[in-house]
Amino acid sequence: RKLGVALVGLGSYSTYQLAPALQDTQHCYLAGVVTGTPAKEKEWADKYGIPSANIYNYENFDAIADNKDIDVVYVVLPNAMHADFCIRAAKAGKHVICEKPMAISVKECDDIINACNEAGVKLGVGYRLQSEPYTNEIKRVVREKPFGEVRYVSAEAGYRSRSNPDQWRLDKALAGGGALLNMGVYAIQGSIYGTGQNPISVSAQEFSTDPEYFKDTDESISAQFKFPNGATGNIFTSHSANVNRHYSAFDNGWLELNPANNYGPLSGRLSTGEEIKFPHESQQKLQMDDFALHVLEGAPNKAPGEMGKRDMIICEAIYQSIAEGGRTIDLDLGRMGIVD
Ligand code: NAD
Repeated sequence: RKLGVALVGLGSYSTYQLAPALQDTQHCYLAGVVTGTPAKEKEWADKYGIPSANIYNYENFDAIADNKDIDVVYVVLPNAMHADFCIRAAKAGKHVICEKPMAISVKECDDIINACNEAGVKLGVGYRLQSEPYTNEIKRVVREKPFGEVRYVSAEAGYRSRSNPDQWRLDKALAGGGALLNMGVYAIQGSIYGTGQNPISVSAQEFSTDPEYFKDTDESISAQFKFPNGATGNIFTSHSANVNRHYSAFDNGWLELNPANNYGPLSGRLSTGEEIKFPHESQQKLQMDDFALHVLEGAPNKAPGEMGKRDMIICEAIYQSIAEGGRTIDLDLGRMGIVD
């Protein structure tokens, strides 16, 4: 059986990535949509053959509880709206995929996790790279240690954004933060799966070159991590620079991906001169099929809510460090168990 997925929020990610990917998924399909724009109702119904009974708006959304076609609600709204719609989806008895960043505070992540637990529904975060083969090759090299112990990781994620000063990503109330919450979560994730450990401390700096454009949200942030085995990590995230790279250094070699976190094809190499090469597939397709198999067969949840919460704890510590002039903030994430 294929699970029916309803996309909530038909912006660019739903339109250009998720809906096309759902045409190729094996274990789920695009069954419904939730949109606040009436014109999109007909457009999406025509394009994807969605019956009118499976089309909702933000007001009548809760009636999705009675819709047997919809198994999974995928929340693809501005970050500050994730918690509200994920909690409503859980209360409607639907499994939930929440886009990254999971929410705009650790408290909201807890609220989503609790709502899903109380409703007995599954929760995944839209971390597409967790289902992606190059990313999993990093994890394999870290785990199997062909180059020995990891000593350093560097992860960069960002792009230059200047085209639309009115976008919600520049509005703290809707975005919760700037480059860090938008792209920095990829660099944070890279530093963790690039060492196989959760960081034990972080210190961070913010850089601003365009305070007019970025009056409400962070433009660029650099952060340094310490890991339990003594390894160090450096991350950089930006809305001013196109950066997209992963580097893990081991006792006897290194691994690099560049690009490391866009939609692909990704590219990578090892210190031996070998290329890292996998056939390109839609990351979103892999991600949504992995989540569907988690729901249908109890396969591992590649990006559980606790992972999204962990990353939000780190984001809050980074903002705290910046607010306190770069002070080192201790982190206690080991107990969370997730080192992917
Ligand atoms: P977008 O601006 O293109 O779309 C946002 C959608 O939300 C639009 O349909 C808009 O109409 C709707 N919306 C509802 N209320 C709104 C409000 N008050 N203000 C603004 N828009 C409102 O954004 P997007 O790029 O599709 O991003 C949506 C979410 O998906 C974000 O959380 C983002 O971080 C995430 N995302 C993830 C990836 C990924 O690779 N995993 C990529 C892009 C976006």
